[in-house]
Amino acid sequence: MKDNSEILRDAYGRDHAYLRISLIERCNLRCSYCMPEAGVPLSPKSHLMTYEEIYDIAKIFVKHGVNKIRLTGGEPLIRKDIPIILEKLAALPVELSITSNAVIIHKFIDVLKENGVKSINVSLDSLDRAKFKQITRRDQFDIVYKNILLLVKKGFNVKVNAVLMKGFNDNEIIDFINFTKDLPISVRFIEFMPFDGNKWDLSKMVSYAEVMNYVNKTFTEDKIERLQDAPNDTSKNYKIKGYKGSFAIISSVTNPFCDSCNRLRLTANGQLKNCLFSATESDLLTTLRAGKSIEPVIQKAVQAKLKVRGGMDTLAKLQEPKLHNNNRSMITIGG
Ligand code: SAM
Ligand code: SF4
Repeated sequence: MKDNSEILRDAYGRDHAYLRISLIERCNLRCSYCMPEAGVPLSPKSHLMTYEEIYDIAKIFVKHGVNKIRLTGGEPLIRKDIPIILEKLAALPVELSITSNAVIIHKFIDVLKENGVKSINVSLDSLDRAKFKQITRRDQFDIVYKNILLLVKKGFNVKVNAVLMKGFNDNEIIDFINFTKDLPISVRFIEFMPFDGNKWDLSKMVSYAEVMNYVNKTFTEDKIERLQDAPNDTSKNYKIKGYKGSFAIISSVTNPFCDSCNRLRLTANGQLKNCLFSATESDLLTTLRAGKSIEPVIQKAVQAKLKVRGGMDTLAKLQEPKLHNNNRSMITIGG
């Protein structure tokens, strides 16, 4: 039952109904845009949330209005107790979903179904096997591709996330769109974002406008349909008429969607991040373990949320390594 205290409303009137929970800092892939080649310092196991703690924290958020939870990571499916986590969270009145690289997802079809997961986001940055290996530093293209087809066959709502990088996979934009011709999936092109250790620079990013240039050069105007975006949607959605699937662009860099942001993030070591780009965190786990209420900590964190991208409100600020290197690597935030 929703509490009326509105601790999830921030200073700009944004209500936060969507919680992303990162379950693990480790991954079975090594995507270069997500983590430094040398890896990231990992939290000791005792500093990570147990499944009971994940449930206890999630329950508080739900009490205050969260109705959507997405599990992420690292790779959430490599956490050994993922079936219990799914089962516990499925008992809450939320829409439960997951973001995965899909390398081992074929082993979890039943458990995902049994716990009411309907929507799955899968990362796939190239339709070319060699390029997949180059970006993820692992040779797992075939299984990921097969598993996307399997998820569709099993009736999941599948979104494929592709981070675009200039000179690497921007020449595959149309191949990705054609991938939606016979498959009822949504391919989402994500603008490459800066995080600690991912060697970001603006010239590597492929913008929303550039994606649409490719689209407009390939398809005539009457073929391109702009779809209605869902409320709080971070993506601009399109479809090629006659295609079963659709495509979208997530333009956090050139066209941020902070005005309608309804997301909060909980890291695997129990830190609340009020924004993907924020350099500050609030320690919910230590408070919970001390037997104290986490609600005042949550309220303070939500109140401190800045208007745009954790304070990096201009492209110039986003380009300052000093600012984004205070943040974590994406693998330890959870996208
Ligand atoms: N391992 C899972 C996966 O890859 O889907 C979940 C975690 S991953 C951190 C979540 C999402 O973050 C992925 O879709 C990935 O493409 C995205 N991501 C990671 N680093 C990014 C970056 N620098 N810019 C944009 N998106 C990024
Ligand atoms: Fe792993 Fe996902 Fe990051 Fe790739 S994007 S390294 S699959 S957590």
